[in-house]
Amino acid sequence: MDRERWLPDLDADFVVVGAGVVGLAIAERLAARGTVVVVERNEAAARETSAHNTGIVHAGFLYETGSLKHRLCLEANPLVYEWCEAHSVRVAHTGKLVVALATEDLDGLERVEARARANGVSGIRRLTGIEARALEPHIAAVAALSSETSGIIDQASFAKSLESAARDRGVLFAFRHTVIAVEHAEGSMTVHLRDAEGTESSLHAGVLVNSAGHGAPSIAALAGLPLDGDTVRGLPPLRQRVNRGRYYDLVTPEFSRAVSRPVYPIPSGAADVQRHQAQAGGAGMHLSVDIDGVAHLGPDTEWLPDGTPLDYRVDDAPRAAFLAAGRRFLPALRDEDIAPGQVGYRPKIEATGDTPPDFLIFRDGAYVHLGGIESPGLTSALAIARYVDGLV
Ligand SMILES: Cc1cc2nc3c(=O)[nH]c(=O)nc-3n(C[C@H](O)[C@H](O)[C@H](O)COP(=O)(O)OP(=O)(O)OC[C@H]3O[C@@H](n4cnc5c(N)ncnc54)[C@H](O)[C@@H]3O)c2cc1C
Repeated sequence: MDRERWLPDLDADFVVVGAGVVGLAIAERLAARGTVVVVERNEAAARETSAHNTGIVHAGFLYETGSLKHRLCLEANPLVYEWCEAHSVRVAHTGKLVVALATEDLDGLERVEARARANGVSGIRRLTGIEARALEPHIAAVAALSSETSGIIDQASFAKSLESAARDRGVLFAFRHTVIAVEHAEGSMTVHLRDAEGTESSLHAGVLVNSAGHGAPSIAALAGLPLDGDTVRGLPPLRQRVNRGRYYDLVTPEFSRAVSRPVYPIPSGAADVQRHQAQAGGAGMHLSVDIDGVAHLGPDTEWLPDGTPLDYRVDDAPRAAFLAAGRRFLPALRDEDIAPGQVGYRPKIEATGDTPPDFLIFRDGAYVHLGGIESPGLTSALAIARYVDGLV
């Protein structure tokens, strides 16, 4: 960016709203180009979606070929491992299995394999039932697809490392500040904030980057963007829906280490894996492990009515459904083996027809929008930052 051309009274060249992993990665990246302030309504970074997810480093084979999810995930996958190595963030190269649990699933497995090849994902291997069971003895797989570049990351320390790297580059953080209004000025933006005590202030920014996760549409509306899109201005619809994903933990010694890598099902009976995912809102209930090797079931999928508050407290309501889903993988699973785990909320752009929604990232003048940053957003954060760098 040509700093000479910037207005002299800017408080920052870039104001980034949202200190989730995506906003943090963008801030760290843009700090090489100018001054950056990150505005975050919570008291610390990564308290929302970035802290409530499965922590899988995805390989990029489940997404629509050519979509941003596909391209940015594929680009980011090796970057994540390099970043973790350089910043001492725990990451496990576990790999991942997509398993056929019955012969009816074999067609679906083939479709996933074809998508993986079309997406240019390396380290994909077809396994026989015997090979799959040698890796995961508890899972009665009849065949599987192994993805060697998938892994598990310590989400909290990944976010911390992004924040520290951003601070090292001079990024300033305004925690406990909520964006309450946005004004366009001549080639720049003014962002009005309210802090936790109710004091109001404003920041004059060269570029406003809206990476506010679930808050992104309301900030776009404050900036005067039409949430239903505008064909004349070439703006897409920005509305997001919320899809809840709950987890159960496997808590008994028999099952807490039942698997050593994420194990995904083929949605049984689904003619097309992508279509099924677009309608359901997620990749199907799976088994996973966290960075400490403990197994979890989930997330499930549930569309929530607009405006439902994001409540991170957990309850035991879906126990029966989780037990049934868990028994598809682990037939001997008992009621006492599971306990309610965390809950996360996917920010989803509405699907058009059967096409699964993609990340929505665009620039409109001095405003950059990031919408629908659901999975694989954690994996893709470093590549999303590069993409935004390219836009500004
Ligand atoms: C159930 C679930 C499982 C997932 N599993 C995976 C996975 O295994 N692998 C993977 O790669 N991805 C996964 N994801 C996706 C991943 O977690 C997200 O894509 C990623 O965390 C999004 O980061 P973010 O920075 O965009 O959003 P967030 O982390 O939500 O950050 C946005 C920030 O903006 C702030 N904000 C909002 N409005 C305002 C405002 N008005 N003023 C100031 N601040 C504001 C919020 O407080 C928040 O901190 C999963 C997501 C879910 C829900």
